[in-house]
Amino acid sequence: MNKEKRHIAILGSTGSIGTQALDVIRANPHIFVAEVLTAQSNAGLLIQQALEFNPNAVVIGDETKYAQVKEALANTDTKVFAGAAALEQVVEFESIDCVLTALVGFAGLKPTIAAINAGKPIALANKETLVVAGQLITQLAQEKGVNILPVDSEHSAIFQCLVGEFHNPIEKIILTASGGPFRGKDASFLATVTKEQALKHPNWDMGAKITIDSATLMNKGLEVIEAKWLFHLKPEQIDVVVHPQSIIHSMVQFTDGSIKAQMGLPDMKLPIQFALAYPHRIKSDFPRFNFANYPSLTFEQPDLKTFKCLNLAFDALDKGGNMACILNAANEVAVAAFLQDKIGFLQIPELLANCMAKGTFVEKPTLTDYLETDAETRTFAAQLI
Ligand code: NAD
Ligand code: MG
Repeated sequence: MNKEKRHIAILGSTGSIGTQALDVIRANPHIFVAEVLTAQSNAGLLIQQALEFNPNAVVIGDETKYAQVKEALANTDTKVFAGAAALEQVVEFESIDCVLTALVGFAGLKPTIAAINAGKPIALANKETLVVAGQLITQLAQEKGVNILPVDSEHSAIFQCLVGEFHNPIEKIILTASGGPFRGKDASFLATVTKEQALKHPNWDMGAKITIDSATLMNKGLEVIEAKWLFHLKPEQIDVVVHPQSIIHSMVQFTDGSIKAQMGLPDMKLPIQFALAYPHRIKSDFPRFNFANYPSLTFEQPDLKTFKCLNLAFDALDKGGNMACILNAANEVAVAAFLQDKIGFLQIPELLANCMAKGTFVEKPTLTDYLETDAETRTFAAQLI
């Protein structure tokens, strides 16, 4: 690596990805500096992180907590900001070398655009941004010559398989899915599942929203859309296979028929570190995979009849325009409602399909169109609930 340290802004430092990114930085203080940290409402953890990492600045999204954070950091050099608009300003800091978007949902869109406009490489965990506005984001990144480095484990796997392949064309990619906690269950079982059951993911410990998305298979649908934009693929070049052990993180099939896979224990620290250190691989002490502990790695087709969200994502891709933005907004509302016990598990795909059928379609959306689509869909979805 260069002798110069890499200064990282972590948007969403108090979440699952954010805290694991700080684990990576803590383990490699000679390589990384936590330059900016942000959180929506967990002021306590943000303060604790700031006291440990001494960042240049922090942002607390919830403005009512500004005074608490400001006071706690009064004796430090850390600047304190509050509110959503501050996220768009801090990513422009001259001192930042890379922005890790580890915040959840549509809220990632505007700060990601600001970071790309400021020429910052993006380590992208916030898949919703590419789902909502993949065309706009990838075009802008290309114009600005900015790299978007995937953090999502599947996309990191594909990215790692492509290293050294230069312009060799991809025949297709194969995204692996764990199948989530309800793999093999039927609709009658799903009709009565609780949020507690849905929040128990077999292989990964993640934030609540993505954990519910994994249970519905919406997460894989969002990842299909994310992959389309990251790797310039047609929908028919994207396959999904259920692989319950989550050891193969995804695969690329080339035009000669050869398939490359990236493997390892399920641990998000690896793809986070790969994105932050790219193009270098740095030594880690993460637990190693041992074939003797996994005598069989298994694969099966996803159950698209029972888990309807995955096909809705392919429908949104086929339709194009703002349809994936509608899908994403409806899903954010549906997941929040499910987590508040306002709707049942099977009503999630129903709500999404309804919003996709009734939403105002825009074929060539601008940023303003995306913002309007998001707001309009949220209002409509809330009425349906
Ligand atoms: P999380 O809920 O654990 O953390 C979210 C973070 O974003 C927190 O720091 C929170 O304060 C902040 N935040 C929440 N709402 C915000 C808002 N409106 N404005 C600004 N900040 C806000 O989520 P997570 O599991 O870490 O996931 C973060 C992103 O990474 C998601 O897009 C998710 O799909 C993606 N991702 C997560 C994992 C994982 O293992 N957790 C894996 C792959 C991709
Ligand atoms: Mg993933």
